[in-house]
Amino acid sequence: MLVLHDGALVTRDHELPAGAQVEIRPVVSGGAGGPRCVVCGAGAVHEEPRHRASWCPTHLQDHVANQVRRAIDHPPGAPEGARMLHYGERVLIAVSGGKDSLALWDVLHRLGYHVDGLYVGLGIGGYSTRSGEVCRAFAAERGLHLHELELAERYGYTTPSGAGASGRSTCGVCGLSKRHAFDEVAVEHGYDALVTGHNLDDEAATLLGNVIRWQEHFLARQSPYRAGRGPTQPRKVKPLYRLSERETAAYCVVAGIDYVLEECPLVDGNTGHELKGALDLLEAPSPGLKAQFLFGFLDRVADHFDDEVDDDHLASLRECRSCRLPTPNEVCAFCRQRERILAVLPGAGDLDAEPR
Ligand code: AMP
Ligand code: ZN
Ligand code: ZN
Repeated sequence: MLVLHDGALVTRDHELPAGAQVEIRPVVSGGAGGPRCVVCGAGAVHEEPRHRASWCPTHLQDHVANQVRRAIDHPPGAPEGARMLHYGERVLIAVSGGKDSLALWDVLHRLGYHVDGLYVGLGIGGYSTRSGEVCRAFAAERGLHLHELELAERYGYTTPSGAGASGRSTCGVCGLSKRHAFDEVAVEHGYDALVTGHNLDDEAATLLGNVIRWQEHFLARQSPYRAGRGPTQPRKVKPLYRLSERETAAYCVVAGIDYVLEECPLVDGNTGHELKGALDLLEAPSPGLKAQFLFGFLDRVADHFDDEVDDDHLASLRECRSCRLPTPNEVCAFCRQRERILAVLPGAGDLDAEPR
C-alpha cells in the first residue's frame, strides 16, 4: 500500500507530526528498501523491492518514463527494429480514469508523442460518472483531445443491463464491448496505434490464468506488442508492461494526477483478481518474482509471436457482416453478443438492429 500525508508520499522512515492524518491507498504488494533516492541521494518517497531501489519524486518520474521508453524502443515479440510507437504518428490511448491509463497518457505526452484519449462510458452508475469526469479534467488541463463513447448510446445497452440480459459475466460482456469500442474508434478515426494501460500485474495475472488453463492460443498471442495490419487493424501496444501498479499509483501521486481510486463495483468474483492475489502472495517473500515470470515468458516466446499461429489466424479473417471489423466468423463475437442482448432487453426493439 501507499501512505500519503498532506497529498505527498511518505516512507516508513518519515516522522509524522502528532495527530497527523494519513491516507492509506491500497495497491498491490508492499515492501521495504533504502530510504534515499538511488539517483540523487535525496529523501525517497517510493521504494521498489523488485529493483532494490528507492526514488525521490523527480527520479521516480524519470524511472517510470525510462521503463515506458524502454518498452516502446524494444518491444518483446516485435520484428528487429520495430517500435511500439513512432514520433509523428497518430496514437489513441484508451483511458478508464484509473491510475494506469492516466499515468501512461501523461508519460507519453511528456515524451512528446501525439496521443488522443478514448473514454468508454460503461453505465456503471456513479463509478462511471466519476471516471468520465476524471478523464475529461485530465485532458482539459493538458489541452489534449478526448473521444467519448457511451455503450448505451452507441450499442443500446450498458455493462450491467447487457450482462443481465445475456446471462454472461459482467466482466465478460464489459471486456468484449470495450475492446470492440476501442477498435471501432481507432479505425473510424484512422489511428496508427491503440494503447492500453495494462501493467505488469495485469499481464502476469493474465499469463498465469492462460498457463493454468493451458490456453495455447491466448499464450501465443499474449504480447505487449501486436503488429498493425492495414487500416482495419491498428497496432496494439501496452507500454506499461514493465511497471507494477504500485509504481503507476506512486507516479500519479508525485505527478499530481487525479485518478479514480475506487474499484469497479461489479468486479466481485473476477478471476483476474484472484490470480493477482495469488501472485502477490508469491511476490511478497520474493520481490521480482512476478517480473521474472512475465519477462521470462516474453523472452522465451517472443520469437514465436507473429509466426504461423498468427499467420493462420490472419489468413482466416474476413469482414464482420454487421460491423465490418475483421473476424474469423461471418459475424464477430461482439455483434453476436449484442444481438443476443438486444433480443431480450426491454425497449431495445426500438433500436436499430445494426451497430451504428
Ligand atoms: P481493465 O480491463 O479494466 O484492467 O483495463 C485495462 C485497460 O483498458 C486500461 O488500462 C485502459 O487502457 C483500458 N480501459 C479500461 N476501461 C476503460 C474505459 N471505460 N474506457 C476506456 N478505456 C478503458
Ligand atoms: Zn532523486
Ligand atoms: Zn461485428
